[in-house]
Amino acid sequence: MTFKEKYSIISKVLFKIKNGAKKMHKDDTFATALNCIDGRTQEPVTKWVKEQFNVKYVDTITEPGMDNLTNDGSGLHEETVQKKALFSIEKHLSCGIVICGHHDCAGNPISKEEHIEEIKEFCRKVLSKWQLGIPVFGLFVNEDWNIEVVYSEK
Ligand SMILES: [Zn+2]
Repeated sequence: MTFKEKYSIISKVLFKIKNGAKKMHKDDTFATALNCIDGRTQEPVTKWVKEQFNVKYVDTITEPGMDNLTNDGSGLHEETVQKKALFSIEKHLSCGIVICGHHDCAGNPISKEEHIEEIKEFCRKVLSKWQLGIPVFGLFVNEDWNIEVVYSEK
């Protein structure tokens, strides 16, 4: 069974289990993206997420320089984004989440290597602290606006 088929089944099972949460059409499947506000990143990330999780829609939560979010000392900003992610999971039964960083980011102007480290750190934090119960992937959108998977926890 391919990864795509596996997640298609999981999302349909989740739909059946939690259908009481909200009335949705059975084909309305979702995954969640935590991405930069940068318009250049939206299409490649959405395309990758739809293909990877075999979903019809991608709930997208954006902040400038999203991959730097968890370095905000106060934690307030992180809490807001976490609430939005939980909303997507609870209301739309999202079956996977991606944390994104990208080339030429005005909101987080650091090197590619530093972006990758921040994305990995963010993913590990989501897994240990947010405990969403769905697969977490870290994506870097490179200088050609292609996706590089830098973290994967299924
Ligand atoms: Zn950016």
